[in-house]
Amino acid sequence: MKVTLLAGGTGGTKLAHGFTLLDVPVELTVIANVGDDTAMHGLHVSPDIDALLYTLAGLIDTERGWGIRDDTHTAHDMFERLGEPAWFTVGDADLATHAHRTRLIREGASLTDATAAMVAALGLTARILPATDDDHRTMIETDAGEIAFQDYFVRLRQEPEVRGVRFEGSAQPTPAVLEAITDADLVVIGPSNPMVSTGPILALPGIREALGEAVAVSPIIAGRALKGPAARMLASLGHESTALGVARLYSGLVDRFVLDEADAPLAPAVEALGMEAVILPTVMRTDGDRAALAAALVELSRPA
Ligand code: GDP
Repeated sequence: MKVTLLAGGTGGTKLAHGFTLLDVPVELTVIANVGDDTAMHGLHVSPDIDALLYTLAGLIDTERGWGIRDDTHTAHDMFERLGEPAWFTVGDADLATHAHRTRLIREGASLTDATAAMVAALGLTARILPATDDDHRTMIETDAGEIAFQDYFVRLRQEPEVRGVRFEGSAQPTPAVLEAITDADLVVIGPSNPMVSTGPILALPGIREALGEAVAVSPIIAGRALKGPAARMLASLGHESTALGVARLYSGLVDRFVLDEADAPLAPAVEALGMEAVILPTVMRTDGDRAALAAALVELSRPA
């Protein structure tokens, strides 16, 4: 079965891992958000692609949810001494990822090709496709003006209230991304921030039209985000900061919406939006939780 998953760096990434743990053969393609990409120390950093690479390779620092486990920071300290920005932490092993990607791109590879090379080098079975090879930068409007995503997320620690989100550039999805969506037996919008993780992917021209039948998994459980600013961002952008608020954002895009068990009472309101509400345990603490959620999604899409 061909599964295509739209993902950001945390929730969607854990679900991607779940699909790779299944006994049933799944050909997994993950479409990764690149709105968070940034230039740091002259290098091309793709935080969500890196989270996917590191998670699927078993390298991720699970405590922090980013970076490589047990990485050291000798280079970071030197960057700081040299007067480079120090607010964005780059581990020593992580630095190799950014340097390698940057070299491949400088030598003419697309971000898609560079990512495929890294997937192969790390021996991963899933495909990881950047949503676009073009510049597609998430910009955050705050009361103090518009700032780039990493300024908001890392430098300012998500403290400013988010008043608007915009994607800079006139990016097109790659043909591989459109094909991965139209060819899939199951398309899943992962439990990632709908405004700044799946939003930048869905904003690319042609993606919404390509979706067909899709299922989304709520990244909000009992009115809260398990990590990051998604709940607060929903509220400051005028949405209800519940799973129902997310379902409204995806209304017309998906046929099924997965609510966590804790949100079962929201099912009738989700169904009133014209999508089937599916209630499942969606909190992925262990590998077993990840695989169980992935298996349940595969089961859902099997013809009865
Ligand atoms: P980022 O790129 O690191 O900001 O990550 P994402 O956008 O992928 O993830 C943030 C969202 O993932 C938040 O709304 C979290 O609530 C959600 N999330 C993280 N872990 C889980 C999980 O185990 N289950 C579900 N349902 N959502 C999760």
